[in-house]
Amino acid sequence: MSFTPPPFWRDLKGFLADDEAVALAGAAASACALGPLLEIGSYCGKSTICLAQAMADSNALLFALDHHRGSEEHQPGEFFHDPELFDEAVEQMDTFREFRRNLERAGLSDRVVPLVTTSELAARHWATPLGMVFIDGGHSLDAALTDYRCWAGHLVRGGTLAIHDVYPDAASGGQAPYAVYRLALESGLFRERARINSLALLERL
Ligand code: MG
Repeated sequence: MSFTPPPFWRDLKGFLADDEAVALAGAAASACALGPLLEIGSYCGKSTICLAQAMADSNALLFALDHHRGSEEHQPGEFFHDPELFDEAVEQMDTFREFRRNLERAGLSDRVVPLVTTSELAARHWATPLGMVFIDGGHSLDAALTDYRCWAGHLVRGGTLAIHDVYPDAASGGQAPYAVYRLALESGLFRERARINSLALLERL
């Protein structure tokens, strides 16, 4: 399956490379037959649009989880801070406005259920089996491990665990997503299906 991005794809704020988007869309297109999808770390909706569009021919839903206050690296003074996404009135990041705008522009609002809260809170009463979990939230070890522990257990057999920003070499990027990737493989519950750029696709056995 190929991914046909919306016309404004290039203008979207986000960190998903084109080859990763194609791979993510392919994974979502098959995983959505197994159950709803869950994305952790929607930011401004770039990967959300990619996933939701890939499910186009199904009735599947995508849960898009993000507190929309930015991860550590998005805060003022940090490397990935974007002043346009800072709400001066509350002195906090607010990516939800941009997220909703992009989703509406893409015409995908009826396929996406935004969960504007933390991973831990959203998971507390969660009982729905998932076809795919895409981990792309906070990149501190604590945040990444929390996302894995809260959600990986809800995947159905054959479901996909996708992890973004997996860099085996510390010189290329932070090590938390890679730690989660290794933890998943070492658990014996997953096998690797593919690695595309920094995106890892694992299958729940
Ligand atoms: Mg990422």
